[in-house]
Amino acid sequence: PTVPLAVLGLGMMGTALASALLQAGHQVTVWNRTAAKTGPLVAQGALPADSPAAAVSASKLIIACLLTNDHVQEVLDGVGDQLAGRTIVNLTNGTPARARELAAWAAEHGASYLDGGIMAVPQMIAGPHAYVFYSGDERAFRTHQPTLAAFGDTKFVGADPGLAALYDIALLTGMYGMTVGVMQAFALARTENIPARELSELLVPWIGAMLAGVPADAEAIDSDQHLTDVSSLAVNHAAIPNFLAAFRDQGVDPLFFGPLQEVLDRAVKEGYGGDGLSRLATLFAR
Ligand code: NDP
Repeated sequence: PTVPLAVLGLGMMGTALASALLQAGHQVTVWNRTAAKTGPLVAQGALPADSPAAAVSASKLIIACLLTNDHVQEVLDGVGDQLAGRTIVNLTNGTPARARELAAWAAEHGASYLDGGIMAVPQMIAGPHAYVFYSGDERAFRTHQPTLAAFGDTKFVGADPGLAALYDIALLTGMYGMTVGVMQAFALARTENIPARELSELLVPWIGAMLAGVPADAEAIDSDQHLTDVSSLAVNHAAIPNFLAAFRDQGVDPLFFGPLQEVLDRAVKEGYGGDGLSRLATLFAR
């Protein structure tokens, strides 16, 4: 056990975080807007606080996990004069810009600030596959890393406090793109009564095989060499109208296939028809 800790926010994730800290043997004070949620954690040995101020004054390390950073700012505003000499670890989902603002605000109040992006669902916390990106005050990270390791692996990605949110959003972007595409595939299959289970058995190995090409895409992007012998943008450009027509004919929302058609039109017009899909990473930049 290291320093006394507070966890602000006991939703699904905050509860899992507090529980992991208790399991690791730490002294943990917990606060939640809806006080009843402290019950199960108190049963595990946590100390309940009836206000953020009470939680903060009992702690050196303050972990916040609320719905949004607006809520974090609101809660911290109420305890600004108590934060000097303490460390805030904010594990609420947010933007790089907002993390930088919160870090500057914390510095004005004499507090160290780390922003974090949790790559896990609550059930994975403290398990072998969970990890958290951290950015911001590196000294605070080094000091508290053994404590933060209770949640899973710790990945410090830089002194710019915005970087953890950037990594977090980048990984979630890949996930949402895949998940939305998968739901759209189910929607299309449903129009012909193909059972989702049957499609799932086909989708999982298919997507897995396609993901195996991601490292080659990464190499193309890092070296800025996009010529391909796999599948050219010209070929994809010619195929996408079939998707749009099939969605229309079957009565399914085309979602991002319209914008994809536009970006492929632009790619071909600008002379990138011979390049692979890795070229898109450079065309999406605005
Ligand atoms: P929950 O909805 O379970 O919990 C939300 C928390 O925010 C509760 O403690 C809630 O308090 C509090 N809250 C909401 N509004 C206010 C307010 N106005 N003032 C004070 N507190 C407020 O969400 P999760 O725990 O799942 O998520 C929390 C954060 O963790 C989010 O930013 C989420 O994106 C992130 N995250 C979640 C993951 C997940 O799989 N669940 C994965 C990775 C990140 P109350 O109990 O009183 O409503």
